[in-house]
Amino acid sequence: MPPPRERPSPNFDARPSGQAVDILLLHYTGMRDGKTAMARLCDPAAKVSAHYCIGEDGGLTRLVAEKERAWHAGVGLWAGAGDINARSIGIELVNPGHEFGYRAFPEPQIAAIIELCRDILTRHPIPAARVLGHSDVAPLRKEDPGELFPWARLAAAGIGLWHGHAEAVSPAPSQTEIKRRLDAFGYGYLEDDLGAVVRAFQRHFQPENVTGTANAETLGILDALLARLD
Ligand SMILES: [Zn+2]
Repeated sequence: MPPPRERPSPNFDARPSGQAVDILLLHYTGMRDGKTAMARLCDPAAKVSAHYCIGEDGGLTRLVAEKERAWHAGVGLWAGAGDINARSIGIELVNPGHEFGYRAFPEPQIAAIIELCRDILTRHPIPAARVLGHSDVAPLRKEDPGELFPWARLAAAGIGLWHGHAEAVSPAPSQTEIKRRLDAFGYGYLEDDLGAVVRAFQRHFQPENVTGTANAETLGILDALLARLD
């Protein structure tokens, strides 16, 4: 991998001592262009950053060293853990996002993120099921990297979990049972807004059906993923 451009951001602090990195968290920048996004990620007043940012041309910039805690996740939850920044590496992908004209991630950007993730996974043994999107850990607030992000392609490249062929579940399980399975997979906020959590799950694993209502296929996918958890 070619060395990244360095553009140090002041927006980080130390990870808690002894804390292992066990989540890889992907984002989109959600701003009009990459220049604006990069300026914000380095603005001390914004108090946000990520370890890396990848432009639509595939250009890779390092903002924060992996050993530090970058400030990218905000309030979130995964598998019962709250301080996502402490235990994760955060990668921003330049994309205007749902607010400013969400569009497909271009090929050079996809190639670059696959290469970067593979590189990170050689340094940190992050389980496949913990390669996540921002909306997975903050489903009530976030939509990124969104339903256009090619998770299946990353999984085919050895990054993250995918479900392959999933059988639709019939008859549909109860709401309680849906909650139990989403909880077992790692999602939080199930008592706050189940629809938002289902929508986050669909953005990641059923991108052709982002409705917030679990259908028979949604549940089949969830079951297939749970079967692959360990
Ligand atoms: Zn984000």
